Amino acid sequence: MTRLAIGGNPNAGKTSIFNHLTGTVQHVSNYPGVTVERKEGTARFNGRRVAVLDLPGTYSLTAYSLEEIVARRAIIDEKPDVVVNVVDASNLERNLYLTVQLLEMEVPLVIALNMIDVAEKRGYQIDVDKLSSLLGVPVVPTVGSRGKGLDRLLEVALNVADGKVNLPRKTVTYGHEVNREIERLAGVIETFPDIATRYRPRWVAVKIIEEDDALAAEIRRMTDDETADRIASEATRSRTAIEQHFDDDAITLIAERRYGYAAGAIKESISLTGEARQHKTDQIDSVVCHRLAGPLLLFGVVAALFFFVFKVSDEWRWVPWFGGWISPTGFMQWIFERLSEVSGGLESRMPVLHSLVDDGLIGGVGGVMGFVPLIFFLFLFISFLEDSGYIARVAFILDRVLRAFGLQGKSILALIVSGGLGAGGCAVPGVMATRTLREEKDRLVTMLVVPFMNCGAKMPVYAMLIAAFFTRHRTQMMLLLWAISWIVALCAAWVLRRFVIRGEQTPFVMELPPYHLPTLRGVLLHTWERTWMYVKKAGTIILAMSVLLWVFMYFPQMPEEEIQNLEIQGASANQIASEKLAHSLAGRVGTALEPISQWAGFDWRTNVALVGGFVAKEIVVGTLGTVYAMGDVSPEETESLSDRLRKDPDWGPLKGFVLMLFVMLYAPCFVTIAVIRRESGTWRWALFSTLYSTSIAFVLATLVYQIGKWIS
Ligand code: GDP
Ligand code: MG
Repeated sequence: MTRLAIGGNPNAGKTSIFNHLTGTVQHVSNYPGVTVERKEGTARFNGRRVAVLDLPGTYSLTAYSLEEIVARRAIIDEKPDVVVNVVDASNLERNLYLTVQLLEMEVPLVIALNMIDVAEKRGYQIDVDKLSSLLGVPVVPTVGSRGKGLDRLLEVALNVADGKVNLPRKTVTYGHEVNREIERLAGVIETFPDIATRYRPRWVAVKIIEEDDALAAEIRRMTDDETADRIASEATRSRTAIEQHFDDDAITLIAERRYGYAAGAIKESISLTGEARQHKTDQIDSVVCHRLAGPLLLFGVVAALFFFVFKVSDEWRWVPWFGGWISPTGFMQWIFERLSEVSGGLESRMPVLHSLVDDGLIGGVGGVMGFVPLIFFLFLFISFLEDSGYIARVAFILDRVLRAFGLQGKSILALIVSGGLGAGGCAVPGVMATRTLREEKDRLVTMLVVPFMNCGAKMPVYAMLIAAFFTRHRTQMMLLLWAISWIVALCAAWVLRRFVIRGEQTPFVMELPPYHLPTLRGVLLHTWERTWMYVKKAGTIILAMSVLLWVFMYFPQMPEEEIQNLEIQGASANQIASEKLAHSLAGRVGTALEPISQWAGFDWRTNVALVGGFVAKEIVVGTLGTVYAMGDVSPEETESLSDRLRKDPDWGPLKGFVLMLFVMLYAPCFVTIAVIRRESGTWRWALFSTLYSTSIAFVLATLVYQIGKWIS
């Protein structure tokens, strides 16, 4: 009579299959000497009688538990003609671990791919033929609870028992080093016929490397002490060799390889349908969109964003350069410093042109270009988050909060486009993104708070001032600025909703697209497009404005006799340069604003930069650079603006912080204002936006400056 044993993980469906195969003719007893249940029965196939044994459920055959030992003994001692390995198809990774071990024992094997209904419901598409040829074992899909596929299973099993199925055998490869030891040890065992006739030498080799005590005891019982000692010492030798090579525990290594083998087979033969992706997505979302974990994770993501972007773009020197290493930002600065040196040749022959090139162009455009690496890595990070589907979750998480402040759920997307995720957006597409809001009033409120976000153009200003005054707290400072931008935007929205643009809020649906692993190509393309836009802006608007601002800062020039007068009075070169600038048109505007701006701690030079920043906020850095470069005694000494400000006695952390605050909040740049005008349909809201944000900026800056001064 053909004998068939059913093995598999607990709850894989062994008993269900056993019951269907054997019907009512069953015999239940215990395995000899232990309390593990032994179930036997008889199945019939085409008039042929088959003895069926239901093995205890195990996850492994490593002999750690009584069930494992019993199952293994039954397979080895009773030598069934075929073993049916019942695996749970909806949980293949864990189930195949046992399969891999059965393969290693080289028993005649059939896989019952059970619970195939559950797997399909979860959206797993299993290529049965592929799995079968990968493992070298016939695979039959079944639904044990309903008896589906069992006739076929029995037919295939009997073919295997009869030796009619000859698939090329596959076995786990443990990698070159481990395999060599296994082969060597198997060769040793081969020389002892007592063992080799009963067990597969290769299997014994793997087992004793794994320190399988049950098998070691078995060997000791079967042979004399001398042989057992010899094998034990050979096993120790192999184990030591492996552990020395990998510097890791041999047992762990072997288990890892088995899992790796199972995982590899699964990856090749299973694909996920849309439903499965949805299932995975739901699982991830239960954490990512969780009430508490969600916001915490978001905070962590933003903190990581700032941390890595600064490290990679500026702090870590990882770009090889002239035999040394510099950071990407250092590299950009190096280029502009060299350009500045080259233009130095013009100084004596054409001083006006030199000032235009060095102070206007290199100072203005170079100042902005120096931040290209920072912007690049910011966009890289954000593009990755966007493509993965996380940004949609951010919208979802923040939605609950934002509703309380009178914003529409979808306004979050506009805020994020504008830089709400920390940095690196732009208010222009942000204002345009409000088109997705159906309610006119929601649109207006969103449009009016969107410019408070930290757009990419504000980044150079922050980066420069943080480098000057907060080098050791970069990440913290960026987080603080991020928080402030949101607090101001939310409070402004709340106030606007209550007092300016009143009306009911409409409910909406937030889409949550499934997660995707972003492709390198997609992320790089996205990043490149955005970085290129930034560079283009630097080469056009910023370039033109730098020249224009330089003209305002250079003309009208001070009459010669006034300069001579100053020299006679014993003024330093520095003071003279400063007087010259004050004499220019820009200097006069800056000076005219000083009586008011001094409340917030801004002198006329800063005012010049802030007026310039109205065009585009990057210009604040360039203009400050120009203002301070013009007042510099030795232009050869190429000091960065951050260093200059740090050494300037008029400046300090408080002033730096207040300036960042003001730049964050004051009037949107003129392109944004033009878009607000277009999207809202009237100049009224564009003008309102300009005035109210500048007022908020000024009031807050003044408050912080005055309180800060009073405290210190
Ligand atoms: P065993 O621990 O391996 O003996 O598993 P059982 O045969 O006791 O089955 C465990 C549970 O899974 C039982 O509730 C069965 O009804 C159920 N089950 C078994 N096979 C299938 C299957 O193919 N599909 C589904 N949906 N359930 C199954
Ligand atoms: Mg059972």
